[in-house]
Amino acid sequence: MDGWVVGIDLGGTKTALGLISPDNRVVAHRRMPTNADEGPSSVVERIAHLVADLEAEVPGGERVAALGICCPGPVNHETGTLLKLVNLPGLSNTPLRQLLAERLNLPVRLEHDAKAAALGDFYFGAGRGHRSMVYVVIGTGVGAAIILNGRLYYGETNASGEVGHVSVDPDGELCHCGTPGCLETFTSGPSLVRRYRRALQEAGAPIDEPTITGEQITHLAAQGDPIAARLMEQSGRALGIAIASMAMILNIELYVIGGSVAKAGDLLLEPARQTVPKYCFKATAQHVQIKASELGDDGPILGCGWLARHAS
Ligand SMILES: [Zn+2]
Repeated sequence: MDGWVVGIDLGGTKTALGLISPDNRVVAHRRMPTNADEGPSSVVERIAHLVADLEAEVPGGERVAALGICCPGPVNHETGTLLKLVNLPGLSNTPLRQLLAERLNLPVRLEHDAKAAALGDFYFGAGRGHRSMVYVVIGTGVGAAIILNGRLYYGETNASGEVGHVSVDPDGELCHCGTPGCLETFTSGPSLVRRYRRALQEAGAPIDEPTITGEQITHLAAQGDPIAARLMEQSGRALGIAIASMAMILNIELYVIGGSVAKAGDLLLEPARQTVPKYCFKATAQHVQIKASELGDDGPILGCGWLARHAS
């Protein structure tokens, strides 16, 4: 489908909407607090209001032709339903696609946010020209989406891509999922914060920043703070071990890293690149490419735009 579409990235705290031109550029943005606790009808109404607002910016009075929306999982992409959402309990078990389609009288596609972001980079960013890739999102949590021969791979029970809960250290700290040494315990924003505070305590240093975030730790590492730099190095190595395992199992060559922690760029990715050859066959490691997402916050929106164009 050509024409103008809207991509919507519905998150735990805020929701971002983008108006996408026929040549797949995000030409206008809108943002709103998600406020999921107000319930589905409030969220749908506020989204509908902003979609109308974006539509007013389409030149020549053309209409928006379709919507794509993504949210933190789990979702049923076939029925367009949100399942039990830990971060958005107010929207659990909501048939969001149907509600939006009825309210706006438009075709709508719903997808998991990591999968939408993967589609964005696959078609319009770091994955252009590739047949297969794995997109790893590192933010509050860690997850992945696998694109195999041009198609998202969902797994037998729609549970593929949980690389954040693959162990990279059997003696590591216990993850909230119950497994020791999950990748997420090394790389997620909250894990970086926990590790940073613990390292300060061990060094006997005062914790003068009670509300430090993962993003701030990234900035500190870039400025040469030794504790923050060591943590990013550790995170990158853990990511490298996980990528080596995926490369050995899947024989996929391109790994695109997105999400807020991935904004650390080479501080995170370079240790990962150096670690991969230590944990897989040389012949496999030679072909592994680890790249940062090229689309940043617009990745999920552009992926939703692609889905919207393929809505039936
Ligand atoms: Zn885990």
